[in-house]
Amino acid sequence: MAGKDVATMKIGPKVWKNGEFVNWDDARVHVMSHVVNYGSSVFEGIRCYKTTQGSAVFRLTEHMQRLQNSAKIYRMETKFDRQAFCDATVELIAGSGLDECYIRPLIMRGLNEEKPSFGVNPFPSPVDAYIAIWQWGKYLGEEALENGIDVCVSSWTRITSNSMPAMAKAGANYMNSQLIKMEAILGGFSEGIALDDRGMVSEGSGENIFLVNNGKLITPPLGASILPGITRDSVLHIARELGIEIVESQIQRAALYLADELFFTGTAAEITPIRSVDRITVGDGKRGEMTRMIQEEFFKIILAERPAPLGASWHTFIHDTGEKKTVGA
Ligand code: PMP
Repeated sequence: MAGKDVATMKIGPKVWKNGEFVNWDDARVHVMSHVVNYGSSVFEGIRCYKTTQGSAVFRLTEHMQRLQNSAKIYRMETKFDRQAFCDATVELIAGSGLDECYIRPLIMRGLNEEKPSFGVNPFPSPVDAYIAIWQWGKYLGEEALENGIDVCVSSWTRITSNSMPAMAKAGANYMNSQLIKMEAILGGFSEGIALDDRGMVSEGSGENIFLVNNGKLITPPLGASILPGITRDSVLHIARELGIEIVESQIQRAALYLADELFFTGTAAEITPIRSVDRITVGDGKRGEMTRMIQEEFFKIILAERPAPLGASWHTFIHDTGEKKTVGA
């Protein structure tokens, strides 16, 4: 079945809901669902690429593991384990008519229509699981990958681990991200970088951040208030393979201005160079050499033109009924 067009976007015709496939138009929630009122959801963002060997989801298992982790933190139990989410994703894509897409698994607290509950206490509300897919282009624009983007440091502080754990990819975290993003857009920037509650660099509204300084690759550690990004992890593997020295350490705001190179990583943003911060030019204002090198390897791996570092298995091919296959191995 072919995907349907909504504006300029192709949408997967079915949505997976609690183990069944429903029509896109029927995948709706009640306005009094717990999630609508209190933000109780966890989710993922995953990409399926059209590779040289057919359509393949990039690091599906790792994303679904993070989904399970996020759900565990918020005590959202479903009867679907990591593999069930992976299998459902492959089946959904295989029947969608889309050869590349963005994948949005979502676990949320709904509404028990027989015995409704409208308070903050989440336990009486049912936990529902969904997966939707659609075709999504380059998140920060096609030319951003080459020319880089202009960003600002946000006046908003990133959520802190003892109030909203950044380790969970929870829908409610993105209220903080929205403040950061809106401020950036209204200020004429593409994206904002948030500092944590101690004033150190954390991440963008939907991306991890990397600096290059004197040939070293520097990024905030996982212990900082950041999402443990899967693209971040891919970049670290690629950098190690290229023999680049990696430093995971706290970064001061001013170090952003003095970096030789700066880039964002994320499933949506992929690897996007940053050409200025607070209107201060980064390096010579162009994509740096190390950024270009890492980007090149990253896209080669994504498109299955070469194996992942250490022979790891980073692709789930759609035609393989969900079995992971190691590229080139
Ligand atoms: N930080 C935040 C806040 C994000 O929303 C994302 C996107 N999921 C990332 C980092 C990057 O994570 P990943 O590389 O796993 O997409």
